[in-house]
Amino acid sequence: RVVVDVRGLHKSYGLTEVLKGVDLQVRAGEVTVLLGPSGSGKSTLLRCINHLEKVNRGTVAIDGELIGYRAAGARLHELREREVLRQRTHIGFVFQNFNLFPHLTVAENLVEAPVSALGVPRAKARERAERLLMRVGLRDKAKAYPGQLSGGQQQRIAIARALAVEPKVLLFDEPTSALDPELVGEVLDVIKDLARSGTTMIVVTHEIGFAREVADTVVFMDNGQIVEQGAPADVLDNP
Ligand code: ADP
Ligand code: ADP
Repeated sequence: RVVVDVRGLHKSYGLTEVLKGVDLQVRAGEVTVLLGPSGSGKSTLLRCINHLEKVNRGTVAIDGELIGYRAAGARLHELREREVLRQRTHIGFVFQNFNLFPHLTVAENLVEAPVSALGVPRAKARERAERLLMRVGLRDKAKAYPGQLSGGQQQRIAIARALAVEPKVLLFDEPTSALDPELVGEVLDVIKDLARSGTTMIVVTHEIGFAREVADTVVFMDNGQIVEQGAPADVLDNP
C-alpha cells in the first residue's frame, strides 16, 4: 500500500522554482531517506507533503487522499483549509529544532494534539503518552519542562509527540543536525527502533551511516529534482 504518493510536484517561491517535478512513492512500513546538498529542496518537499506549503502544480496523496493542484490547464482543485488541517493530523513532523511547547510539561506536550486536534479523551491520551515516553526511554521526564532536558532528550520527546496522533507517516527534517555530536546516537537509535517496528517514515538527514543501515530507499535530490533513487547499497556505493 502506498502511503505517500507525490506526483509531478512543482513549487516556486516567486520566480524561483525550488521543486521541478518531483515524483515519490513511499509504501507502508518503509523508510525513505532523503539526501542531497543544502538548498536542493529536501525541506521544501517535506513541507509540501505535510501541507505546510501550497504546491504550484502536481499532487500529494496521503493514503489515497489527494491534495494539491492539477496540472496547469486542467481544472484547479484545492482542498479547503479544514480538510488540509484534518489530513495534517495524519502526518507526524519532527523538526530540526524540536519545537516543543516550552510552557507545557513533557506529558502535556504529548497530550495536547490528540485531545485538541483529534478529540481523544484526555485520560486515554495520557495513557498513550505514558506508553510513548516509555518507548523513547524518558518515562521519568513526564513532569519536566522541555528547557530542563538535553537536546537529545527534547528530540526524543518531539518524536514521541509526533507519534501521539498515531500518524500514517512520520517526517523528519534533519532531526539530529541541531544536536551536539554525542547526542546524535540516542536520537538515531529511537528512529531505528521505529523502523524495526514498521513505522512509515521519510527522513531528511546527512547521516550516511544511518541511511545505509536503516533506509529501504535512498533518494538523492539535487537542484529541485530527484536525481537518483534506490536501495542504499545501489545509491551510496556507486562512484
Ligand atoms: P534543503 O532542505 O535541501 O536544504 P530547502 O528546501 O530548504 O532545501 O530550500 C530549497 C531552496 O528553496 C533554497 O534555495 C532556499 O533558499 C529556497 N527557499 C526555501 N524556503 C523558501 C521560502 N520560504 N522563500 C523563498 N525561498 C525559499
Ligand atoms: P532548512 O534547509 O532546514 O529548511 P533554511 O535555513 O534553508 O533551513 O530555512 C529556514 C527557514 O527559512 C525555512 O522556513 C525556509 O522556508 C525559509 N527560507 C529559506 N530560504 C529562504 C529564502 N531564500 N527566502 C525566504 N525564506 C527562506
